[in-house]
Amino acid sequence: MARIGFLGLGEMGTPMASRLLRAGHDVVVWNRSAERIAPLAREGAGVASSPTQAAAGVDFVITMLATPEALEQVLFGTAGLAPALSPGQILIDMSTVGLDEVRSVAARLPKGSSLVDAPVRGSVPLATSGHLEVFVGAIDENYERVRPILEALGTVRHTGGPGSGAAMKLVANLALGAAIVTLGEALSLGESLELNRDTLLDVISDSPIGPIVKAKRVNVESGQFAPSFKLRHAAKDLRLVTEAAAARGRELKQARANRDWFDEAAERGAADFDFSAVVATIGGEEPSRA
Ligand code: NAP
Repeated sequence: MARIGFLGLGEMGTPMASRLLRAGHDVVVWNRSAERIAPLAREGAGVASSPTQAAAGVDFVITMLATPEALEQVLFGTAGLAPALSPGQILIDMSTVGLDEVRSVAARLPKGSSLVDAPVRGSVPLATSGHLEVFVGAIDENYERVRPILEALGTVRHTGGPGSGAAMKLVANLALGAAIVTLGEALSLGESLELNRDTLLDVISDSPIGPIVKAKRVNVESGQFAPSFKLRHAAKDLRLVTEAAAARGRELKQARANRDWFDEAAERGAADFDFSAVVATIGGEEPSRA
């Protein structure tokens, strides 16, 4: 069993840290807002008072943070984690922060420590049940070290060398963003053509975007969008997608249009709703959170 520091106890980090504890690992947790720590401490986690302390005496440190900016803060800000890493320790970043941030972080870690990027596909229910899909970018030796730990969280896929997990996650979320915006636009068109909403949802369920309709139909029908994957994170992911593509001279017209919808939904107050609230924004409706 491994000694693990775990930083970032949000919607995803909390059930993931809990699964690592239940798998028998020795887990020390840290979170910016202290109120999220107590439930994990009750389950048996140790508590670190700073990111620096979370790195002390552990074999692996896992970060599951909101954005590249949050990762920068936790790694390189006051009492940051990065300078405290020692030779042999592996930082496993599971946040969705994109390839460019992962490469930049890896270049600034102390000599002898290393970064494995391991972002996940799947939301809170799959994090809770241990059925996430983990995209791991790592050299073979590091992959073999982290695999047994990550297997407590779901299916582990070695996507290639360092950075490839972060890159694959951008590809996955480009597709996710496209699917939910297509659902919104299909419903919007159908309703403007005076088609019945139930029948529309049945027909779209049998289209190529069927899985997203099945996953989000209850939200769409109720107009209630309690967050599982927050819309602000989907908007952030499409920002990372379009920036990564632009930096490499690729023109992603559809991803840019999808990003505009998420930005508009966030501006209209849905940033902390589930990302499927973009469907309501596209339809000109007012979503609610609960
Ligand atoms: P979340 O609920 O918003 O939690 C975000 C975490 O980041 C919290 O622990 C938060 O701390 C911390 N944080 C934010 N800004 C910070 C800062 N400046 N300094 C220190 N800590 C900071 O997000 P989540 O849903 O768990 O998602 C985490 C990551 O996984 C994101 O990159 C997201 O895109 C990705 N992801 C999410 C899902 C999903 O379905 N939710 C699925 C796959 C991937 P506080 O508690 O103090 O705010």
